Amino acid sequence: RFITVEGVDGAGKSTQLAWLAGWLTARGVRLIQTREPGGTPLGEKLRDWLLAEPMHLETEALLMFAARREHLAAVIEPALARGDWVLCDRFTDASFAYQGGGRGLSPAKVAVLEDWVQGSGAERLEPDLTLLFDVPPDVSAARMAQGRELDRFEREAGDFHARVRDAYLARAASAPDRIRVIDAQGTPAQIQAALAQALPGWLGL
Ligand code: C5P
Repeated sequence: RFITVEGVDGAGKSTQLAWLAGWLTARGVRLIQTREPGGTPLGEKLRDWLLAEPMHLETEALLMFAARREHLAAVIEPALARGDWVLCDRFTDASFAYQGGGRGLSPAKVAVLEDWVQGSGAERLEPDLTLLFDVPPDVSAARMAQGRELDRFEREAGDFHARVRDAYLARAASAPDRIRVIDAQGTPAQIQAALAQALPGWLGL
């Protein structure tokens, strides 16, 4: 299975990812955990540029998908072929949310890159399940303000983060069986209790 985890910055995704990895492992799932942008030596170099270097929005999208292509070929596809599960921190939904909703790149252009990198028709590789941790912009802003040093995306002002969230929710509405929206406003323990209830059904465990 291929599971991805998404959410605006400050949604608490990292905390829940660590919990989810433990939850799956405790159920006997053989799992690799990885992230985007990144996940390969080249991808991690691209990540450093992407998080630090101002660039044209299409350059940003192309580099995100370049990192993703490498990640699929070198890590995700081989793991799935071995029968391992893959738990990935962000994937293509993040490109629709950030490069699309946040930066204003047309969803049609993102979709071209999606088809190119993930294939189309019977060949298409999609996550089996995507968990979207959702919080309103005031909550994510407050959580980010307490956190570590911010990257180029997290420092965006105005309604950037609200647009990212709206694009995530629109994407979830278009694929409700794959993308499960989780209200992430509660405490980590409350969110984990809700997940522990829902996950067996979502994953057929
Ligand atoms: O998930 P994480 O916070 O580590 O992601 C790193 C940064 O890259 C985030 O600020 C995220 O908003 C940004 N990002 C992006 N577009 C993507 C994936 C991640 O802008 N497609």
